Amino acid sequence: MFDTLTSSFTSAIKKIRFHDDEKALKKALTELKKNLLKADVNHKVVKQLLGDVELDVKTAGIGKDQFLNSMQTRLHELLKVPGHQGFVFASKPPTTILMMGLQGSGKTTTTGRLAFYLKNKQKKVLIAAADLQRMAAVEQLIQVGASVEVDVYHEENEKDPVKIALAAKKKAQEGLYDVLLIDTAGRLAIDEALMGELKAVRDAVKPDEIFYVADSLTGQDSVRTADSFNQQLGIDGVILSKYDGDSKGGVALGIASQVQVPLRFIGNGEKMPDLEVFIPERIVNRLMGYGDIEGLAEKTANVIDEKKAKEMTRKIKKGQFNFNDFLEQMESMKKMGSMKSIIGMIPGMGAMGDALKNFDMENSGELKNIKAMVSSMTMKERENPDLLNNSRKSRIAKGCGMDAMDVNRVLKQFKNASKMAKKFSGKKGMQDLQNMMGQMQGGKMGGLPR
Ligand code: GDP
Repeated sequence: MFDTLTSSFTSAIKKIRFHDDEKALKKALTELKKNLLKADVNHKVVKQLLGDVELDVKTAGIGKDQFLNSMQTRLHELLKVPGHQGFVFASKPPTTILMMGLQGSGKTTTTGRLAFYLKNKQKKVLIAAADLQRMAAVEQLIQVGASVEVDVYHEENEKDPVKIALAAKKKAQEGLYDVLLIDTAGRLAIDEALMGELKAVRDAVKPDEIFYVADSLTGQDSVRTADSFNQQLGIDGVILSKYDGDSKGGVALGIASQVQVPLRFIGNGEKMPDLEVFIPERIVNRLMGYGDIEGLAEKTANVIDEKKAKEMTRKIKKGQFNFNDFLEQMESMKKMGSMKSIIGMIPGMGAMGDALKNFDMENSGELKNIKAMVSSMTMKERENPDLLNNSRKSRIAKGCGMDAMDVNRVLKQFKNASKMAKKFSGKKGMQDLQNMMGQMQGGKMGGLPR
């Protein structure tokens, strides 16, 4: 999901060699500036970031390592503003969150996604329908709640959002809910009546936090409205929605520092699982092209259990990842939401995101081939792909109705993919990745599934 931004950084990084001169630095910075502005990153943010990097690198001596170090530090500073990260539970449940946003920003959908995210963390969640501005809003929330199997508190004839919010809080306390998400009214634009209503709800329920849902498709406008909500109501976190759409993505880089409120989550697809927690350290890694193994493991843990995810990570690190694991991963990935939302988390894939973006997991011919191939293997072969010599391969090819050449190709892809995964899962992997980045960006797809 950070394809555009990631390629801005990785292409600038490629421009600097280990010992280089000021001209090379200027060239890299100029290109980065052009790309970041094109991605709709605020111009002041760009100026500050690049100014800082230039100064750091000149002070430390011009070279690739210095450039990488400074970029990493400065990006981190940019994204990490004072405040919480991800979802933070109050010491005394229910953790009460007010969800705010303009009409159409994605507030209702995001409330459902957040509920889904929390439910997957084994939390008991109640959603309250306090958006009485729009006729269909309550009905929509009830549907969203049903789709993620989370309780929704609503009252048919009550017109006062404060009363609904208070009654929902009481129900959440009495029903021992861990979290209460209150969906509040939205309008097409900020007006006094809306602010008055939101203040009344805020003052009555005294939420632990206020999340503002900003539509990333509206670019810098979403930053301005977030700022305005913050000035008037005091928000604790921003959630960017519709990050999968035609949004250029730059908003995610600037919004926290521009509004001085942390970006907490990003909505990046139409499905309920398409909500990602925004942890600055991890996002910086992704922007630099290092991937996000932790984020990937966490997302996996939502659909398979945590123990299995740890086991999988251990296997990847040891290079013991076999065909059974591969199939299992593929199956669970189907449940994780759109492919687009996970591509950038896989080390090295951020840089080739485009090529794989539209890879359709469910209907992919390649996945079918792999499945057919694996089902023609013996248990031992599945567990140990190294056993596959030529006679075994031709037996498998016959069994699954593929050419021997195709079997070889798929096997090679699998081996390369697991080699890459092993390589990049360790700490040293990052350095290796840097060295390989040039080759990969040259258009070679390595051995990844097509
Ligand atoms: P609300 O008026 O703020 O409650 O907005 P809704 O939740 O009803 O969302 C408005 C529209 O945006 C709906 O059609 C949603 O399906 C869509 N939407 C919300 N979030 C996302 C997202 O992250 N990605 C995409 N593609 N669509 C989204």
